[in-house]
Amino acid sequence: MRARHIALVTGSTSGIGLAVARKLAAMDFDVAVHGFESDEAVADQIRALQALGDGRIHYVRADLTDSTASIGLVQEVVQALGGIDILVNNAGIQKVSSIADFAEDDWQRLMAVNLDAAFHAMRGALPHMVAGGWGRIINVASAHGLRASPFKSAYVAAKHGLVGLTKTAALEVAEKGITVNAICPGYVWTPLVAKQVEDQARVHGISEEEVISRIILAPQPSKQFVQPEEIAELVAYLCSDWARSITGAAIAIDGGWTAK
Ligand code: NAD
Repeated sequence: MRARHIALVTGSTSGIGLAVARKLAAMDFDVAVHGFESDEAVADQIRALQALGDGRIHYVRADLTDSTASIGLVQEVVQALGGIDILVNNAGIQKVSSIADFAEDDWQRLMAVNLDAAFHAMRGALPHMVAGGWGRIINVASAHGLRASPFKSAYVAAKHGLVGLTKTAALEVAEKGITVNAICPGYVWTPLVAKQVEDQARVHGISEEEVISRIILAPQPSKQFVQPEEIAELVAYLCSDWARSITGAAIAIDGGWTAK
C-alpha cells in the first residue's frame, strides 16, 4: 500500500463531489479533482483545496458525455499523479420527463455520465489497484438506485445499474484487498437539487418552499436534507482499513427513505 493515497473524485467541482474532495484533501491524500469547467473557472477552488492538506491537488477536465474523454480520464490521472488507489465515481446529472417524452439524446447523455463513466473509470483503475494490492471504489448512486420515482426513468435505471455494477465488481476483486461499494443518498442540498426545486416550482406554479416540503422532502422521513459533508465522512470511513470487510454494499444515507 502507498504511504499517501491517490484519489480521483469525479464531478468534484460542485456539491457532494466537492465535499468529498475537501475531506480527502484534508486527510493529506493526493486528490485528482474532476469536472468539465475550464481550468480558470476552478482555479480558486483548487487553491482552496490545496490549502487544506499536504497532498497534491490536480484538476482534470473531461466531459463524460464524450466516451473518448471518459475512457481516458483515469489514464490522465495516473500520468499526472503516478497511480490511483481510490476512485469515487460521483459525477451525475438528472433529467425529469415522462418516458413517452424522454428524448433519446437526453437518455444517452444521462447514461453516459451516470453509468458508462463509472464503468470506464473502474476498468481503467482496477488493474492499478490489483497491482498495488489495495483499493477503494465508491460509487455515488442514490436512493433511486434502490427505489423508483415517476418521471426519472433514465436516472433510476442508471442508478440501479450502478448498484449492480458495484456488486459485480466487488465480487471480482474481493480477494485482492479492494472494496467496491455504492452510497445511496436521499436528497442532499446541492446545486443539482436546487435546480430541481426551481423547475418544479415553475411547473406546478407553487413556491420553492412548498416544493421542498410537499414534493422533494415528502419521501424522506427525516424531513431534512442530507448535507454533502455527511456523504464525505462516509467516503472517508469506507477508505479506512476499518471498512475492509464492507464490500458489494449499497449503503443508504437517506433519512429513512428506503426503510419504507
Ligand atoms: P452537482 O450538480 O452539484 O455536481 C455534479 C458534478 O458532476 C459537477 O462537478 C459537474 O461538473 C459534474 N458533471 C456533470 N455533468 C458532467 C459531464 N458531462 N462531464 C463531466 N462532469 C460532469 O450534483 P450533486 O448533487 O453533488 O450530485 C453528485 C452525485 O450524487 C450525482 O451522481 C447524483 O446523482 C448523486 N446524488 C445526488 C443527490 C442529491 O440530492 N443531490 C441524491 C442522491 C444522489
